[in-house]
Order: sequence, then C-alpha cells, then structure tokens
Amino acid sequence: MKSRKIIGVLAFHGDVIEHIETTKLSAKKLQLDIEIVSVRTKDIISHLDALIIPGGESTTLYKLCEREGMWEKMKKIKNIFGTCAGAIMLAKVINHKIPGQKTLELMDIEIDRNAYGRQTDSFDKDIKTKLGYIRAVFIRAPRILKVETDVNVLAENEGETIACEQKIDGNYYLASCFHPELTTTTFHEYFIKQVYQI
Ligand code: GLN
Repeated sequence: MKSRKIIGVLAFHGDVIEHIETTKLSAKKLQLDIEIVSVRTKDIISHLDALIIPGGESTTLYKLCEREGMWEKMKKIKNIFGTCAGAIMLAKVINHKIPGQKTLELMDIEIDRNAYGRQTDSFDKDIKTKLGYIRAVFIRAPRILKVETDVNVLAENEGETIACEQKIDGNYYLASCFHPELTTTTFHEYFIKQVYQI
C-alpha cells in the first residue's frame, strides 16, 4: 500500500460534493487510501499533496482565497486539478477578466472566460479523449485559446483544447473546461495517478 496522500477540494462553492464523491470513488477503484479534505482555510494548504479546484465563478473564488489569506500558499501546491473556473484559476493568461481578477498563473495556457456564451448555452457532449470516451458537461465554460509547447493536450472539441496537463519544475497541473465530476471518474483517477506517480 502506498503512503496516504492528502487531496484537498477547494470548498467555497461549485461542485464541491461532486468532486469529493468522485475522488472517493476514484480512490476506491484504484485501491488507494486517500484522505480527502474540504479546504476553506489556509492552515491546511501546506499539508496538501494535491488540490482540486471545482468550477463555479473564478472571480468569486479568487476573492475568497485572497480574503482567507491562502492565495500565495496555493501557488506552492505540488499537484492541482482545475475544472472550468478551476482551469481559469490555473491559466497564466485570461481574457474577459474583471478588473483586479487574478489567477494562480501556473499553466502556460491562454483561456477565455464565458466563451461559449451564457448559462443557457451550456451543453453536454460525448468526447473521445486521450483517456477514453467521456460525456463532457460544459456549463458557461471557458475556451482554451492557446497552449504552449510544454502543455500536453488530453482532449479536444472541434479542434479546440478542452483538457490539458503540464509538468513544470516537479509540479503537475491538470485543467479541463468541462465538469468531469458530473459524469466520470476517468479524469480524477488520472489525476490521482499523477499525484501518486503510479
Ligand atoms: N463562468 C465561470 C467563470 O468565469 C466558469 C463557469 C464554471 O465554472 N462552470 O469563472
């Protein structure tokens, strides 16, 4: 049995419960004993092996992380998986940000907020990814406009990147424009494998 890792789920808003449940199920499938914690305060951050940032609203997530004094500490987490608003949080460049909005600036990607239109333009679709077929749910999703060469694309929709990963300075980041926590354990299992390096 591998040593127990701690995976946090940023728990201010968004699909927190779904991410926790999907991570639990993924751990079970992989037969790993993972400690999964809800993250709302800064104290736990330095103990985390990994963090999942759910979708929600990137502007609000930034404000709450900053208010709780956890923003700078978050940048040092070794493994981060960001879905939707979480993917926005990882990007070095964002378009259509609100004044003062910041991201963690960890991944070499350019992302456009709300690029698929309004909430009512949300959709779901079967997508063939490098990890297998999944049902991808897009909720007021961002579009990844550009990825640098160090970034590995894991899924595309009509020629556009919708999931990608980057290893940089011993850290690992995974971003998806859709919400894998709603339909599949595929991406969570993959993320956990990176965290455990198995
Ligand atoms: N539109 C949101 C934002 O800009 C992202 C939507 C989502 O996470 N489902 O943060």
